Amino acid sequence: MTVQCCKCKRIRFEAQWSAPAATLLQGNVSHTYCPACADECHIELFSTQASRATAVHAQQLLQQLGGVA
Ligand SMILES: [Zn+2]
Repeated sequence: MTVQCCKCKRIRFEAQWSAPAATLLQGNVSHTYCPACADECHIELFSTQASRATAVHAQQLLQQLGGVA
């Protein structure tokens, strides 16, 4: 089974990641994230969660202010 990173399109051979392929491979290919892209995704995920948390916090502050006023 070939394993390819679905983000940067690098292909894994054994434990090594090759140079990026031009396209996503078709057929018997397992698409995953290479370690670098997995890290990037975690950062993206974390920043999305962080901004959502900020939005919720802002909403709570507005509700508190509304309750006071
Ligand atoms: Zn990748």
